[in-house]
Amino acid sequence: MKSPKEIISEIKQTLPPDIKLVAVSKFHPASMIEDAYAGGQRLFGENHVQELQQKHEVLPKDIEWHFIGHLQTNKVKYIAEYVHLIHAVDTHKLLVEINKQAEKHNRVIDCLLQLHVAQEETKFGFAPQELLDYVEQGEWRALKNVRLCGLMCMASNVDDKKQIASEFEQANTIFNKLKSEYFNNEDCFAIRSWGMSDDYPIAIEYGSNMIRVGSKIFGPRVY
Ligand SMILES: *Cc1c(COP(=O)(O)O)cnc(C)c1O
Repeated sequence: MKSPKEIISEIKQTLPPDIKLVAVSKFHPASMIEDAYAGGQRLFGENHVQELQQKHEVLPKDIEWHFIGHLQTNKVKYIAEYVHLIHAVDTHKLLVEINKQAEKHNRVIDCLLQLHVAQEETKFGFAPQELLDYVEQGEWRALKNVRLCGLMCMASNVDDKKQIASEFEQANTIFNKLKSEYFNNEDCFAIRSWGMSDDYPIAIEYGSNMIRVGSKIFGPRVY
């Protein structure tokens, strides 16, 4: 069986140079992260606060921890000191809380707005029009300790590649619209976080520059 380090190296050889790979290590032990780390991987993604806390404590401090899943407002405080990028901001209330906790640590936390493009009703995120309205309305501008750096989305969990492609295409169109209308002078607004183990090649065709890959690297998760 190939190690995480070997698989990451294989994936990276197929990626265009400007694409960042977040290794999604949720539900996998720190020892597997150490293997990937030894191969040079520094970006890791987690989606449970408690698990992230435990791993952050024992693993090297130059790891960039990405919080990729739904984040509850009352848990922001536990990760605010060190989290590198919060991928799934889905309400203004959450952004306000991230701002507040970032201020306590005298830092600015980079965030992505989560766009809901999938068919599933249960997924979190702003609907396309909701997202455009939110950015237009501009309440976020008052929050000085968060920085909006782009969008994140998940495609429907289906086999239909055309369906997946059309969802990523929609995300890319919305990203480009926001970029040109509101963030043209903000170099930091540049991240398009879409694509996971099964769909990242399609995501890259449709503008992704940050993929979040878990099971392909670390194997199936045992929940
Ligand atoms: C778990 C997860 C991933 C990785 O999924 P894989 O299919 O294992 O690559 C990516 N993004 C989010 C938001 C996740 O929760």
